[in-house]
Amino acid sequence: MENNLSVRPANLPDKIRHYINGEFVDSIDGETFDVLDPVTNETYIQAASGKKEDIEAAVAAARTAFLEGPWPTMLPRERSRVLHKIAHIVESRDQQLAEMESFDSGLPIAQALGQARRAAENFRFFADLIVAQSDDTFKVPGRQINYVNRKPIGVAGLITPWNTPFMLESWKLGPALATGNTVVLKPAEFTPLSASLWAGIFEEAGVPRGVFNLVNGFGETAGDALVKHPGVPLISFTGESRTGQIIFGNAAPFLKGLSMELGGKSPAVVFADADIEAAVDATIFGVFSLNGERCTAGARILVQRDIYDDFVERYAAQAKRVKVGLPSDPATEVGALVHPEHYDKVMSYVEIGKTEGRLVAGGGRPEGFETGNFVAPTVFADVSPDARIFQEEIFGPVVAITPFDTDEEALALANNTKYGLAAYIWTNDLKRAHNFSQKVEAGMVWLNSNNVRDLRTPFGGVKASGLGHEGGYRSIDFYTDQQAVHITLGKVHNPTFGKANAENSH
Ligand code: NAD
Repeated sequence: MENNLSVRPANLPDKIRHYINGEFVDSIDGETFDVLDPVTNETYIQAASGKKEDIEAAVAAARTAFLEGPWPTMLPRERSRVLHKIAHIVESRDQQLAEMESFDSGLPIAQALGQARRAAENFRFFADLIVAQSDDTFKVPGRQINYVNRKPIGVAGLITPWNTPFMLESWKLGPALATGNTVVLKPAEFTPLSASLWAGIFEEAGVPRGVFNLVNGFGETAGDALVKHPGVPLISFTGESRTGQIIFGNAAPFLKGLSMELGGKSPAVVFADADIEAAVDATIFGVFSLNGERCTAGARILVQRDIYDDFVERYAAQAKRVKVGLPSDPATEVGALVHPEHYDKVMSYVEIGKTEGRLVAGGGRPEGFETGNFVAPTVFADVSPDARIFQEEIFGPVVAITPFDTDEEALALANNTKYGLAAYIWTNDLKRAHNFSQKVEAGMVWLNSNNVRDLRTPFGGVKASGLGHEGGYRSIDFYTDQQAVHITLGKVHNPTFGKANAENSH
């Protein structure tokens, strides 16, 4: 299976197994599925294919660890120490993690390295947050004091997608574990390799047995069983909006806590007064980084008419220079898409785009890449808002550019999709910047900036892009119950029932 195109990382396991109650195990029915290397599309490893019984075993282990284990009741400082160790281990192995992630997902190695470091940072952040955590108390002078008793909820079900898998898992694992929950993680079936590394990292850092459990497998089997397990009171899901709807329905009978981070088709709006060079650089990066497989990609660029032709020309020229290459090459800017199925989907949109817009860059396989899931950075100009490539999430290195005249038109175009994850606004007009940002239907707005996010800020989308927010204290809120304890300080304040005629009745 070795091939001179893909660089096989050292220390690949012989097989990807589940990790349940501190042990690597096969599926109970012994089934496995193929995992492909996106450069050759050859099967490079088998992964255990989890079903209902495997999920049941994982939930049972997590439940026992929650009910009997030390983890939920440990001092925050003690849990924080373990989380800091995790961050340290991840950071010290960033190169190795990045090699595995890049090999499994097709992400350029330089970007996978950044994601590995971000994963460490996520753990470090929540390690710091829980020791600084304070909860509300409410005084009613002389009468009552009320306080919040914050508690972990139980077994958290974490379901993650294949884009930047390790980093996105850290985003859920960090706060879920920091707050004292135990977890069952179901990573995406396209990219199970890096998730299996958490087990060793957690063991080394001192996470007690049963606190972290991992079940690999397909969404319709393993994921579905996790969503429908009555012993899992909350599900944090990141993935497609369509999958989110199914999970929402399946979780309804159990009234589970749900956090939904879903798809996007985010606008980047460039006004004529903007710093055009910075806007071109940022919008190129915004849609072509991470192979365009990025939920917050600015995949629709709206450009004011006065600068439209100039912008399109510069943008197309720069897009043509974006370096497509082997994921393992440090100079690569766009690598291989994750899987041949996803490649086919992206390529079908490229063909649709040729009938809907003016192709100004890319439009197919890049030269010199006859096999593997490589797509040339593709730019369509003059795309009308009813085009499918304007409305639908492509999740690849494909962008639609559309002109506008006025602020009102720009806003209407920006809001004209079912999604509402991010928006990027480029203007030097202060009033316009804030007014536009506040009106745009997006969970997150970046003004004259790329997607650079402080970990304390809320993360989440509106409309079909999600439900609820994670990030900073909002993640802590999602993974905890805030029980209110009310204490009487003064005279008991009882309305007295049943005493009105007490004397007469004797
Ligand atoms: P997906 O919805 O196909 O799968 C995500 C996960 O859900 C996988 O682990 C999958 O196995 C599981 N799953 C599928 N069907 C399921 C079911 N019926 N029950 C339970 N689990 C099920 O998404 P994907 O293709 O892996 O990821 C890409 C999508 O994720 C894009 O739409 C992207 O925008 C979105 N995304 C959103 C964010 C965000 O924070 N908003 C971040 C990253 C990715």
